[in-house]
Amino acid sequence: MPSKQQQTIAPLLKRSQSTFSIEFFPPKDDKSWDQFHQTASRLATLEPDFVSITYGAGGSTRSRTEEAARLLKDRYGFLVMPHLTCVGSTEKDIIELVEGWVKEGYRNIMALRGDPPKGQTTFEATAGGPKYGSELIAILKKNFPEICLGAAGYPEQHPEAGSPEDDLDHLQAKVDAGADFITTQLFFNNESFYRYRDAARLRGIDLPINAGIMPVLSYSQIKRFTEMCGASLPASLTSILEPIAEHKEEVENKGIEWATEQISDLYAHNVDGVHLYALNRARAAVNLAKRLFGREKLSPLPG
Ligand SMILES: Cc1cc2nc3c(=O)[nH]c(=O)nc-3n(C[C@H](O)[C@H](O)[C@H](O)COP(=O)(O)OP(=O)(O)OC[C@H]3O[C@@H](n4cnc5c(N)ncnc54)[C@H](O)[C@@H]3O)c2cc1C
Repeated sequence: MPSKQQQTIAPLLKRSQSTFSIEFFPPKDDKSWDQFHQTASRLATLEPDFVSITYGAGGSTRSRTEEAARLLKDRYGFLVMPHLTCVGSTEKDIIELVEGWVKEGYRNIMALRGDPPKGQTTFEATAGGPKYGSELIAILKKNFPEICLGAAGYPEQHPEAGSPEDDLDHLQAKVDAGADFITTQLFFNNESFYRYRDAARLRGIDLPINAGIMPVLSYSQIKRFTEMCGASLPASLTSILEPIAEHKEEVENKGIEWATEQISDLYAHNVDGVHLYALNRARAAVNLAKRLFGREKLSPLPG
């Protein structure tokens, strides 16, 4: 039996019981580490199947991503998957970086193109570096065949994709390049996820698809996020949130209620896994676990 850190994520997602994972982002500045520790120690008690840690736009937080990943792995005992983007890196940089990660014991990487760094509106590939998620995946697969690779999927299509078909062609390219599983962008309407999953299956894409769920914790923040990533807010959700937009606690309660219903429905539809964009906030994840499973553990009860 491999040690926890040696486990690869795709087989976890393929087992019959859905997985539950959590996404962290690295602290934005040195003052935020205390809060990161508090969140990590609280979320460790929920025992998610794995956690992931984002890679900052422009590689700006790379050293923080690495430090945070190490803490999550060594101090808090999570199975950790660092994210990696194409931004600012040549192929050689990527290979050197990942050689270090392999030595540190990581066996899973979420491989992404990345968003344009602050101040830029379009993505510019670095000379000698990959331009698309699929190219990054191909480099990683060739040089590190033992690493399990996650690719991003977009139930409501990526904002730069010309059409849903175009978007699926590019998902296919990531699969062909060697992706082992897919984690989706956040969505609030499960129908868009089911349509996407069906369309992928029809094309013969049979990789596990991990559904990205973000509980709304602030109305202004979620409006900003959804505008950025191209996800839509259903009218039925905005009509609940708009009248209470200024009442933080009420918004959070309604946001958790919505996410709970989404996740229950996903389980009823045999989702491979749920990936929680928890925004480094433990309280929402703890409340979700209590509502979903009646206990402080993020794992569906058997049967
Ligand atoms: C689960 C998840 C985690 C994420 N984590 C991070 C993170 O840690 N750090 C970060 O900066 N960002 C992160 N992102 C955001 C992500 O980097 C952006 O959505 C980015 O714009 C696209 O990344 P991708 O890997 O999907 O890109 P790609 O698959 O390369 O797609 C980017 C765009 O190019 C198009 N495209 C792809 N291939 C081709 C081609 N051959 N010809 C023409 N067009 C093409 C696609 O349709 C799409 O519009 C995450 C997103 C998700 C869903």
